[in-house]
Amino acid sequence: MRIDELIEARWIVPIEPAGVVLENHALALDQGRIVALVPVGEAAQRFEATRVTQLPRHLLMPGLINLHTHAAMNLLRGLGDDLPLQHWLETRIWPAERALMSYEFVHAGTRLACLEMLRGGVTCFNDMYFFPDAAADAAREIGMRAALGITVIDFPTAWANDADDYLAKGLAVRDALRDEPLISFCLAPHAPYTVGDATLARLAVLSEQLLLPLHIHVHETSAEIEQERARTGKRPIARLDELGIIGAQTIAVHCVHLTAEEIALFATRGVTVAHCPASNLKLASGIAPIAQLLDAGVRMGIGTDGAASNNRLDMPAEMRLAALLAKGASRRADVLGAHAVLRAATLDAARALGLETRIGSLEAGKEADLTAFDLASIETNPNFDAASQVIFAAGREHVSDVWVQGRPVVQKRQLTEEAAKRAEADSASVLGLWQNLVKLQIGPTH
Ligand SMILES: [Zn+2]
Repeated sequence: MRIDELIEARWIVPIEPAGVVLENHALALDQGRIVALVPVGEAAQRFEATRVTQLPRHLLMPGLINLHTHAAMNLLRGLGDDLPLQHWLETRIWPAERALMSYEFVHAGTRLACLEMLRGGVTCFNDMYFFPDAAADAAREIGMRAALGITVIDFPTAWANDADDYLAKGLAVRDALRDEPLISFCLAPHAPYTVGDATLARLAVLSEQLLLPLHIHVHETSAEIEQERARTGKRPIARLDELGIIGAQTIAVHCVHLTAEEIALFATRGVTVAHCPASNLKLASGIAPIAQLLDAGVRMGIGTDGAASNNRLDMPAEMRLAALLAKGASRRADVLGAHAVLRAATLDAARALGLETRIGSLEAGKEADLTAFDLASIETNPNFDAASQVIFAAGREHVSDVWVQGRPVVQKRQLTEEAAKRAEADSASVLGLWQNLVKLQIGPTH
C-alpha cells in the first residue's frame, strides 16, 4: 500500500491501550491520518512510503494538548510578577488589555504563543481570549490546532460591549470557521465572579444545544470563594451548579480550593479539571487537590495558563510539575505516574474538547498530531523506562519533531521551512513594538 509517510521510532507511547511503551514500531500516515501502528519489520512489507522518517533514539507520542491558556498574553509575559491574582489583574493585566486590545494585538501574541508551544511539543491549545477571529487566523497561518473560546465577560473590551455582544460575535466567528479542519470552539464564560446568573444559565443551555464544551475558571483563589459567600451565601460551584454549568461538557480550570462534596459532584457529573500548577504557584493561589480528584475518578487535563502568569507555555515542564506536586502534596509517591500524566495531557484533554475521536492517541483513523522527544542526550540516560524519561527527566528542549494533521511543523528541533516562513512576521521588532506600547500605557512594570 502506498502511503505518504512512515515514521519508525525506537519507542512509541500510543496512550491507547493505556500504559504501553512499544519498541521499534512504525506509524504509517496517509493524508494526515494514521493508517497503522505496527512493528518496523511488518511496516516495511506492508507499506511503500513517499517519505520515511527515522527516529532511532526517540519516543513518539500524540501531540500534547494545552488544556488552558490565553495565547495572546504572550505579549504580556513578565508583566507584574510577584503579585497575587486580584491585584495583578486589576493593576497590570486589565489596564494593559484595556489600552491595547485589538485584532493586531491578539494576532501577534497568538502567533508567538503558537510558535512557543509547537517547539515544545504542543499541537493543540484550548484558548480563552478576546478576538477569537485573530487567534484563529494566527493558528491557521502557522498550522496549529486550536479550540477557541467564545469568551464571555460582563465588562466591555475592544472586542465586545456586553455579554450578549460577546456571545453574538463569538458565535459568528464559529459560524464563519465551521469548515476549518484545525479549529474548534468552546463556550468560555471567564469566571463566576465576572459573569452574571442570566448569562451563565443561557450558556449552559447553549452548550447542550450546540454540543460545545464549557471552559471556565473555577475556584482559583480562596478570596473569590469568600467574596461569593459574602454576596450570595454560596460557594461559586454551588451557584454554577444551580445554573446548570457543572456537567460533562465542563472544563473547570484551576479548582485549587475544593471541598470533598465538590470533588464528589465533579466525579458524578463528569467534569474535567484543567490543572495549571505553575500559574497556581506563581500567583500564590495554592495547590489543587489532584490526588483526591483522581481518587474520586475526576478526569484531568493540564494547562499552562497564559504567559503573563506562568511565564512559560511549557507543557513538558507543566507535566513534570503536576506529577511532583500531586505526589508531594498527598505524600503518596504512587499518585500520577508517568503514563497517567501523558494520558492527561493527550487523550483526556482531547475528550474534554470533544475531539477524542480525532486526536489524543495513536490509533488507526485518527489525525496525525504527533510529538517526538529525542532521548539520546546525557540528561535522559540511562533509559530504563522511556515514558518516565519524558515526564521526569526530559524538557521541552528535547522535543525534536512535531506534526499537526500529518504535516511536519518541527524537524530536528527547528521549525520547518514552511512553518518558519509563515511565522516571519513575528520578528524581534514586532515584539519590541508591543513591549513599548505596554510600557507607555501602564508605566513602569516593576
Ligand atoms: Zn486562565
